[in-house]
Amino acid sequence: MNAIWMPYRQMKTAAPPLAVAMTDGSRIFLKDGRVLIDGIASWWTAVHGYNHAHIEAALIHQAKTMPHIMLGGLLHEQAAKLATRLAALLPGDLNRVFFSESGSVAVEVAMKMAVQYWLNQGVRKRTKFIAFKGGYHGDTFATMAVCDPEEGMHSLFSGTLAEQFICELPRDGESEDALDRFLGDYAGEIAGIIVEPLVQGAGGMLFHDEQTLQRLRKLADKHDLLLIFDEIFTGFGRTGVMFASQAAEVVPDIMTIGKALSGGVLPLAATVASEKVFAAFWSDDPLHALMHGPTFMGNAMACAAANASLDLFETENRVLAANEIGKQMSQELGRCLSLPGVVDVRVRGAIGVVELEKIADLEGLRQRFVAEGVWIRPLRNVVYLTPALTIAENDLSRLTEAVEKVLKSGVA
Ligand SMILES: *Cc1c(COP(=O)(O)O)cnc(C)c1O
Repeated sequence: MNAIWMPYRQMKTAAPPLAVAMTDGSRIFLKDGRVLIDGIASWWTAVHGYNHAHIEAALIHQAKTMPHIMLGGLLHEQAAKLATRLAALLPGDLNRVFFSESGSVAVEVAMKMAVQYWLNQGVRKRTKFIAFKGGYHGDTFATMAVCDPEEGMHSLFSGTLAEQFICELPRDGESEDALDRFLGDYAGEIAGIIVEPLVQGAGGMLFHDEQTLQRLRKLADKHDLLLIFDEIFTGFGRTGVMFASQAAEVVPDIMTIGKALSGGVLPLAATVASEKVFAAFWSDDPLHALMHGPTFMGNAMACAAANASLDLFETENRVLAANEIGKQMSQELGRCLSLPGVVDVRVRGAIGVVELEKIADLEGLRQRFVAEGVWIRPLRNVVYLTPALTIAENDLSRLTEAVEKVLKSGVA
């Protein structure tokens, strides 16, 4: 117990973590016999619920055939097949799939790709990025620098982090004009714009509309910048469409995916480039190659799980399920709007958010949910639900009832 260093917590003061014995569907079975209904699907990865039989069978088969082989100079069927399927599934000509093992690395690769896209064409000064307040893109140094300054702990690590341009999202014509003017001055230093489309996740579950993304596409084209969509949170049905970019009918130049990509069972992420971006690397010059290659990139077990997950998206209508979950959450979470301290209730696809003025005791609130038999982990000032897309109607009701009951008791 003392050897493990836990994430995102002051270990001296926080309650010890709950010991989990097993999982099944939308259930977490604790070692002490308690059972929790899962409201967040392990950071929204487990879209098919835990222990799905089809994914399990694919994993067992792959473990016996070939758990892993390096991708340097070698290729296996699961990675090749997954890349082909993703290229067909993603909008536009996002056809070139570079695998990695975590979302943060996928974003780092996207940033490296964008900078090198310019370097390969002899443009040396376009090295910075436009990112947005409320955004979250990962915990590594390059990605922290494009997170919201508070989320990315910019002040604590100032001097160590690269300085990027953190702007307001162009939610209306006025802020579009402001960003346009800014780009007029600085575009020559900027490689690309990075944004989480439709929903900024870990930075506070903030929503924006399709038009905001269309404005970004327009500005990126006008100022000749690459547009990067980080769909690590929004991808695979979460917002009520397979990918958020499809709702906005905007095709980015680079897209990052992760989290639910493997159905939530193994670490896997990808950076997917359009033909235009890929073309800048396609050359006789070895220095024009993308010099990146995570040790476990395209891991065969992870790719087998992802292929099995895509099978399930084809055979069972998860996108429809996400919208049904959304309807139910709108009705049931809507009741929270009249509770003290609640400033907003919003739902998009299978993302339900109750925003509070503030949450004074985050840890205390989390423990209240466990006492109610649910696993809900509020962050910042929001209580949110991102359940498995397979969650049963009555289980979802138990989650929304727990949110209402706990917030009614005024613990926040
Ligand atoms: C979770 C997340 C990341 C980081 O992914 P990791 O796998 O935790 O490194 C990046 N971007 C978004 C939008 C995310 O939700």
